[in-house]
Order: sequence, then C-alpha cells, then structure tokens
Amino acid sequence: MAAQPPPIPPVLVRRSPPSTQSPGQGARKRVVVVGGGLAGLAAGVHLSKKDLDVLVLEKRPFLGGRAFSFDDPETGVEVDNGQHVFVGACSSYMAFLREIGAWNNVRMPRRLEARVIRGEHSSWLKASSWIPGSAANLPALLKYGHISKMGRLRMLYGMMRIRFARRRPGGPLEQETFDHWLRRHGQNDETISRFWNLIVLPALNDDISEVSADAGLMLFQTALLGSPEKAAIGYPVVGLSRLAGEAAQSTIEAAGGQVQSSADAVGLALENGSVNGVRMASGEVERADAVVVALPAKATLDLLPEEIASSSFFSAASGIETAPIVGVHIWYDSEVLDELFVAVLDSPLQWVFNVSRMHERDEHEAKTGQHIAISLSGAWEWKDKSKAELREIFVAEMARVFPKAAEATITRFITVKMLDATFRVTPGSEQNRLPQETPVPGLFLAGDWTKTGWPSTMESAVRSGNLAAEAVINHLSQRPAERTRS
Ligand SMILES: Cc1cc2nc3c(=O)[nH]c(=O)nc-3n(C[C@H](O)[C@H](O)[C@H](O)COP(=O)(O)OP(=O)(O)OC[C@H]3O[C@@H](n4cnc5c(N)ncnc54)[C@H](O)[C@@H]3O)c2cc1C
Repeated sequence: MAAQPPPIPPVLVRRSPPSTQSPGQGARKRVVVVGGGLAGLAAGVHLSKKDLDVLVLEKRPFLGGRAFSFDDPETGVEVDNGQHVFVGACSSYMAFLREIGAWNNVRMPRRLEARVIRGEHSSWLKASSWIPGSAANLPALLKYGHISKMGRLRMLYGMMRIRFARRRPGGPLEQETFDHWLRRHGQNDETISRFWNLIVLPALNDDISEVSADAGLMLFQTALLGSPEKAAIGYPVVGLSRLAGEAAQSTIEAAGGQVQSSADAVGLALENGSVNGVRMASGEVERADAVVVALPAKATLDLLPEEIASSSFFSAASGIETAPIVGVHIWYDSEVLDELFVAVLDSPLQWVFNVSRMHERDEHEAKTGQHIAISLSGAWEWKDKSKAELREIFVAEMARVFPKAAEATITRFITVKMLDATFRVTPGSEQNRLPQETPVPGLFLAGDWTKTGWPSTMESAVRSGNLAAEAVINHLSQRPAERTRS
C-alpha cells in the first residue's frame, strides 16, 4: 500500500500461540477474520465477546492496516503513516476505542475550533461555547473572516439547503458532484474554495469537483449540522499502532481469541459452495465455521475464487478506485507553530499539524523543537515527486507562511506516501460498495469500502467490522439447513 515503506518495521505485533482447533471440535464455533486493519480488529473484538473462537490473520508483521505508526530511527519517535483525526460524530470508532481501553490515548475537544490562514490574515472556524445545540456551529460560519459578508450569507443559505436535502440510496445525489450541487444552491468560487473544499478535501481525500453530492451532504449533515461535539476534531496522543493495534489484540486475546501476524491468506476453502476455511501461503488451511474478509476491495477480489469474484454480486467491487495521501514530516530545532493544527488557504500546505504538541511530547513542554506534519490530501500532484523536490517546495512554503519556520533550523525531513490511502467517493461509486453479508454461505465482508454509509474513514472501517460480526452471529445462530439457504 505504501509507495515508500517506512524505514524500519512499525511496532510489531505479538504472536498468539498457534491454534489447534478445527470447527466442530469443542463447543465454540470458529470464526476466522482475514485482515488486521481497523475493520478486522473491530470484527475480532465484537466476535470474541460472543463466546466464539476467533482468529484474526494479518499479512504484515504489524496491526492497524492503513492506520499504523513506525519508530523513526533518527528521532526515536513514533511517526504515523499519515495524520489521522476524527470528528465527534464517529460514534462507532469512539466506542471501539473505549471498548479496547484506548480512550485515554485520544483527546476530544468539546467543539470545533481551527485557525485558517490566508496570506497575512488568520480567521477561526470556531463553534460558540454558549449557544446550545447544532446552532452552536453557526458562529463558525458567520464569523469566518476569509469570506465576504455576502459570501457568508451564501454559506448560511447553502448550509440550510444541506440541512433539508433528502439523500436516499441510489438517488440522483449519488450521480452529481458536490461542487455542482453547491453551485446550484447559491455557492460560488469564493465560498467553495475558501470554505467548502477546505473541509471536503481532507475529509473525503478528493477535490470537491470529484466527490459525489451525496458524500458531501453526508459529511456536513453528520458533523457540522449535528450537535457541537459532533463537529469537534479529535486526535490520538500516541502513534497509531500503539493506539488501536496493540490494544485490540490484547482485548481479543483476553476474551480467548487469537491474533496472528505475518499470516498471509491466499485463498478461501470451500465445500459444497460454502466457505469453511482460509488457505494460507504456508500451505495450511485455517478451518472455520464463518470467515470475515476484512481487506481493501482489490485484495478482497484477489482472495476469492475467480468464479465467485467475477459473479454479479462481487464484481461491482472492481470499480472501487483509490486516492493518495502524502505526509511531509519536518523537525525544526525550535517552535514554529503555536496551535495543534492550522489550515492554510491558497497554499499547497492544506492542513499543518503540530505533532509534538498533539503527542504531548517533551520537546513541546521544553520548547526545544517541533515535529510538524503536513497532510496532503488528494495528492496526485505530489505522489510522484521525489523527497528532494517535496523538501524544496514545502520547506519554502512553511517559511513563507510561518515566520518562525524561516528562522528555525531543520533537523530532519521525511515523507510518507500512501498511494491507495482511501477509496474514492466519486459520482456513481456508491453502487460499487458491497454489503457485509454475501450470497456465499459462511463468507462475510468488512472493510471501510463496504456499505456503511460513511466515506473512507476509521469510522467506516469499525462500522463495517461491527456489521460483519453481527451478520456472522446471526448466521451461526441459525440451524445448519437454514444457514446453507441464507
Ligand atoms: C495517510 C492516511 C491518512 C488517513 N487519515 C484518516 C483520518 O484522518 N481519519 C480517518 O477516519 N481515516 C483516515 N484514513 C483512512 C483510514 O486509515 C482507513 O479508512 C482505515 O484504516 C481502513 O481500515 P480497513 O480495516 O478497512 O482497511 P486496511 O486498514 O487496509 O486493513 C486491511 C488489512 O488487511 C491486511 N491484508 C491485506 N491482504 C491480506 C492477506 N492476503 N492476508 C492477511 N491480511 C491481509 C493488510 O495488511 C491490512 O492490515 C487515512 C488513511 C491514510 C492511508
């Protein structure tokens, strides 16, 4: 997945002892989950609570999938493969973190607050602390100084139209771009480039002219038009692997399940049309009463037998496309940024994160230096640039926008490229997402790209894992004859 693998292996997963059980032996039914990303881990945690014998198989030597961290050999700190944040509307992801005992390792402010820089000027997207309910987010729009007074009225009107827009599965909003929809509802270049796309580009990892109106509307209806805490931006204070991978593994093992790393699944075992196991690269077969395939869309199709992958139900997934994210990490010898994160308009910088402060690290306390991460979403323009080219562009841009960066010395510079960071939510793409329950008995799907109603996020991954687990539980509770029919 990463175009540029991390310099040293990320925090490695502990190996559970090998399983010796086959289905049918002992009282507990056996469920094998393929994929140790957030979707597979959420499914594993959910299933292991239900007196099932759970085995999670992960191909790489570490857990977390597209949300992982690695130890940087030079600075000795954990570096994320990409800055991950979440909004307060991500209820399933937040519940998952609580369930695995990781909630202490994230911070969730009470409301939205972000500085936005344009040229010499700063303005804040800031929810009110005294207005109750969803109206608390309105001042964020009304006081947003990078838009003219007329433009702010436009934004308010657009938000009102979003509030009352009716989305429905398969409806026309899935075929139109959000940019087009907004222009049909009073928005212009000013409001789109300085407000709407400021949120859409990082949240959906694509330009506003590429995403469907349905995905854009979902984003604003769920976060900014919800209660103030739903739009607040939460973030981890530890590396991503430590946050979820290790904690989820401990939770699964504590419930009697197993997690195996460096376990490469190469196919499914079938008997009479039902899935009853997973074939491993080692030649072994992990027998199972049900299998959850929690992989990205392409890897899912690669795992399925050709006749199943090409059937009408599954083949839609071949239309899932992905979008890149490039992370630029710069270490300065002194502080260059005061707040946790800022957005920058009319600049390639997009969103800039103060990792030292987010991770509550010593250098922040002692003000001896700063680790900055620039997150470049929809990064087609940047993905093929060399490290030297990216350094030249982004070091100069940081110095232009943040005067303290021009004074500071750079002590380290790295880039992390994730070419298939997220799946795209372009018009018409929703029809490519598959449900968790499949027509093949014993086979279930998870993964952020499956049908969850959410874009490519940690929330979608966890939701998919929970939905797949519920479908498995339902399937296993049926009598054998019913199971084969379902
Ligand atoms: C740079 C970057 C920034 C992001 N920022 C955000 C953000 O700010 N907020 C947010 O909510 N989301 C963000 N995302 C998206 C989020 O990380 C993903 O939506 C989520 O992690 C997907 O989880 P998943 O379990 O569905 O898939 P994956 O994480 O892809 O998990 C699939 C797992 O299966 C394993 N696997 C593959 N093949 C096999 C096989 N044959 N056998 C066994 N195992 C296999 C893989 O190694 C992987 O661990 C970001 C993603 C990236 C890359």
